[in-house]
Amino acid sequence: MKYKLMLSLLLLWGGFIGCKNDEHSYTYKRDIAKKLIENKEETILIKYRIKNLKTKKISKWNKTYSLPDLKDKNWNYIFSSLNYLLDSPIENLSYEDVDPLMGRFGYRIHPVTLIPRNFHTGIDIYKKDKDTVKAVLEGNLEIKKDNLSGKWIKIIHPVYTLDSFVLESRYLHLKKIIKKEGKVKKGEKIGLVGGTGIMEGYIPHLHYELVLRKNKRIILLDPLLIYFNKTEKNITSKIKDKISPHAELIEIIEKTEKKNLKFLPTYLEFWKEKGKKDYKFKILVERIKEIID
Ligand SMILES: [Zn+2]
Repeated sequence: MKYKLMLSLLLLWGGFIGCKNDEHSYTYKRDIAKKLIENKEETILIKYRIKNLKTKKISKWNKTYSLPDLKDKNWNYIFSSLNYLLDSPIENLSYEDVDPLMGRFGYRIHPVTLIPRNFHTGIDIYKKDKDTVKAVLEGNLEIKKDNLSGKWIKIIHPVYTLDSFVLESRYLHLKKIIKKEGKVKKGEKIGLVGGTGIMEGYIPHLHYELVLRKNKRIILLDPLLIYFNKTEKNITSKIKDKISPHAELIEIIEKTEKKNLKFLPTYLEFWKEKGKKDYKFKILVERIKEIID
């Protein structure tokens, strides 16, 4: 009976949800998501078959991932539910805390290697005055460590879909982990923001990821779309591949409005310290200086 009610709600809902414009800004139906989720008992259920939703494929370091195909309006159900369920990993997270040049989800220039069109599987949150990372939802916490991601945490959340996809949140490059493995509550403090892993020596920030996973199939979700109902294209994704990452950078800088560049002086300091001294880099630095002056 409950299922029939949910199904009819979904059908009814499917008729009026939609994508407002090309930038994929959605009107979330949080009240409907709330009603569906409130029927929880031990676990929270997302009554949907993920496998029926349209996705796109991308690859990174020989691994294949899926992304939601935002033309499929049914994703709005998943996004609405998550928008209702999830806390932010850092207090008072705002859209502006994620830098449009290098911090957003999707293709970007890697801030350390300067590799162009590196697929960024999460968002980078820089917030100087806030360094405590919190669990975005209850779940089971696992502690991880590797050369790329540094010290990091994965939490598997009890958000089950009809076809057994699970939700995972991931918190990378932590300075310190302050919670033991095992059960964790929503909002509990789990770690401190740092720069461990490949980002060693880089600006401390939290790399935050949300994925739906079933065995080896991973669907990457854009946290900005979940939390703020919107996502604009990365600045980098507007630019076609170029032979030189620096040439590409220059073009990006030229096309970037001054208001979007609040993180650039910090990148510059980092690159300068790392001794990137080739002449193209010097040109880049000069161009950036001209723009931010
Ligand atoms: Zn990142």
